Amino acid sequence: MSNPISHQNIGAARVTRVEEMAGPAFRLSTLFPDWDDALFEAHKDWLVPNYVNPEKMTALLAMHSWVVQLDGLNVLVDTCIGNDKDRMPMERWHHHQGPYLQRLEEAGFRPEDIDMVMCTHLHVDHVGWNTRLRDGRWVPTFPNAKYVFSRADYEHYKDRTGDMDAASFADSVLPIVEHGLAEMTDGEHLLADGLLLEPAPGHTPGHVTLKLESGSEAAIFTGDMLHHPLQVYRPEWNSRFCILPDEARVSRRRVLDYCADRGALLMPAHFGTPHCCHIDRAGEAFALRWHYG
Ligand SMILES: [Zn+2]
Repeated sequence: MSNPISHQNIGAARVTRVEEMAGPAFRLSTLFPDWDDALFEAHKDWLVPNYVNPEKMTALLAMHSWVVQLDGLNVLVDTCIGNDKDRMPMERWHHHQGPYLQRLEEAGFRPEDIDMVMCTHLHVDHVGWNTRLRDGRWVPTFPNAKYVFSRADYEHYKDRTGDMDAASFADSVLPIVEHGLAEMTDGEHLLADGLLLEPAPGHTPGHVTLKLESGSEAAIFTGDMLHHPLQVYRPEWNSRFCILPDEARVSRRRVLDYCADRGALLMPAHFGTPHCCHIDRAGEAFALRWHYG
């Protein structure tokens, strides 16, 4: 059982992980169209029990936000599922009631303390806490924050109808735009000194990453460019949710190259305990070293 709140320092920055939920998600052969049991066999010794349930061969995934504190700025990266939202057919997410905001507060952040919310992309599990239900309406959860996301994802999802992405756009993205709190980005965007947002298209057309560089240390928040740690060993494997397969492979490799060359920590949205890792080169692919903070 992982701790739902944890802290670490990266250069002058303090990074806090706040977990919303964790547990079994998809069967690995469903999540990865190229799935090969041999990869599980080769890495079984570390995959069980934190990353794979071997009886059902399901991926164990976490759902968390990262909060970056740097130079007096509090930046919340990705906002999970949220409470009270209509999310059928995902029963675990539908009208979810969890202590996310209490955990955030326990970690030292009231909603009004967040200066910036950054969504790596506009999928349902990355925008949920953008808003919360007040008197029957969806209102911004973080009233003092500027919400940053890519214009490309906004354009991609704005006319969608009839599915979960359309529902989450309507209740978790549109209210932010209507309240005048959205800042949509095109291309690279410097959020602050040492915090660079960069396009990493593929999983969604407008997926972005956030690089944190402070002194000699660095980290990169990668959203869903990798869903599961096994993709470090098979960087060509897309998840079934990657919309642009070729672009996703290029972006994933670019991020892993950056981590290996720069010694940067990889900070994804769904890896199990300890949730982030260093990347080493291993032939044509890569290997990971878990980082315990
Ligand atoms: Zn996700």
